[in-house]
Amino acid sequence: MTYPDTYYKRTMADRTARPVLSGTVECDAVIVGGGLAGLSTALQLARAGKRVTVLEAESVGFGASGRNGGFVSPGYATGGDDIARVTGKDAARKLHLLSVEGMEFIRENIKTLGIDNAKPEPGIMSVLRYDDGASLKAYADEISREYGYELEYMDRDAVRAVLKSDRYFQALRNPTAFHMHPLNYLRGIAAEIERLGGRICEQSPATSVVSSGSEKRVKTARGEVKAPDVVFTTGGYTGSLNGKLKRSYLPIATYVMVSEEAPELIATAIATKHAIGDNRRAGDYYRLVDGGRRILWGGRITTRAASTAGLVKELRAEMVDTYPQLAGLKTELAWSGLMSYARHLMPQIGRMSPGIWYCTAFGGHGLNTTAIGGKVIAEGILGTSERYKLYQPFGLVWAGGLAGLAVAQLTYWKLQAQDWWRERAA
Ligand SMILES: Cc1cc2nc3c(=O)[nH]c(=O)nc-3n(C[C@H](O)[C@H](O)[C@H](O)COP(=O)(O)OP(=O)(O)OC[C@H]3O[C@@H](n4cnc5c(N)ncnc54)[C@H](O)[C@@H]3O)c2cc1C
Repeated sequence: MTYPDTYYKRTMADRTARPVLSGTVECDAVIVGGGLAGLSTALQLARAGKRVTVLEAESVGFGASGRNGGFVSPGYATGGDDIARVTGKDAARKLHLLSVEGMEFIRENIKTLGIDNAKPEPGIMSVLRYDDGASLKAYADEISREYGYELEYMDRDAVRAVLKSDRYFQALRNPTAFHMHPLNYLRGIAAEIERLGGRICEQSPATSVVSSGSEKRVKTARGEVKAPDVVFTTGGYTGSLNGKLKRSYLPIATYVMVSEEAPELIATAIATKHAIGDNRRAGDYYRLVDGGRRILWGGRITTRAASTAGLVKELRAEMVDTYPQLAGLKTELAWSGLMSYARHLMPQIGRMSPGIWYCTAFGGHGLNTTAIGGKVIAEGILGTSERYKLYQPFGLVWAGGLAGLAVAQLTYWKLQAQDWWRERAA
């Protein structure tokens, strides 16, 4: 099995290794990429009785899906107002409801498939680092009015009772969002796909896709899969297999660290099982793992491969600035992963040509959105709905290549500077 050394790898419950594709396989649909987008699609197709084959270049969950923060909440990598500007209010509302459905899809799978080692821990808090309770209350009212979705307002005392930091002011608590062990979830649904007769091949990178009429042939070094439908779900690890997909996304790296075991020290700072994110546009997120014995802390982005050690220094400085009492807490483990961003910051979900589908570019908000992406693509293949067309306004637009990466990094630094300024000015 090929996985980077992450907390999730170390605590992975099921260690089944899967075979390499060899010879010719015929099936109804072939999925390229064994992350959350690919396996959610495969699961829904297998549930509908389709014969599916998943090709994964490394091991199931090798990419972002097996190394993320584990926060599952509604929404997308960009805000509702930006979405509505492109689609209009009605379609934006439908897209938001799909994002909630994605979150519920994961919760339901964990429950019905009995994936106990990915058991959802309820509650995510979004915390302000400056004093502005009125804007939070107004936002919670709007969400309740528009979507019937309740967010709970916490005043400064309530926040500081559980997060012992002078940096924090008010917060919104989302009681239905949750956090979980993403790799265990993924491996749980992989087992279900196989139970339903699906095939998952690891160490099997797809090297070419050839269309001849309605038949598509996806080749690997040692075999090929023939099927009428191909779905690309290669996320931030997309190579040159499909030029159009490759040109339409930017690979953005982001970082996570996990502390040593220190439950007493950690309890002096964080006294909640909720996951926490601060509201900065370039902010941090963290949660307790291992029954409160460790902190998992994530943040920062870079557009070029950067030294994880250097980024961890920045994350640690951020953690200690927020919680000076954690200055002595050692970092045991750190890793990075690649996210896929489109220029419009929305997922790219759709059909390129008959039988060629794509479901990618979920950015840093990919747990609920890969779930709904896989679900609507499966419905499109099965012909049971055209919900995937709701994502059509956010197509495969050129992401700008190297210039796009430079702009992304500059934008991030600008957002960081603005965050800093807003906090100091408050
Ligand atoms: C560090 C980090 C923290 C994050 N935290 C959160 C969070 O807390 N909440 C949240 O909602 N989102 C989070 N995200 C984002 C989320 O993890 C991603 O958006 C999501 O997992 C993307 O899933 P995916 O299936 O599209 O891609 P991936 O999981 O990256 O899967 C793509 C797969 O395709 C495979 N592949 C590539 N090319 C080929 C080929 N030619 N043949 C076969 N296989 C191939 C790769 O090996 C890879 O396994 C985070 C991301 C990172 C990196």
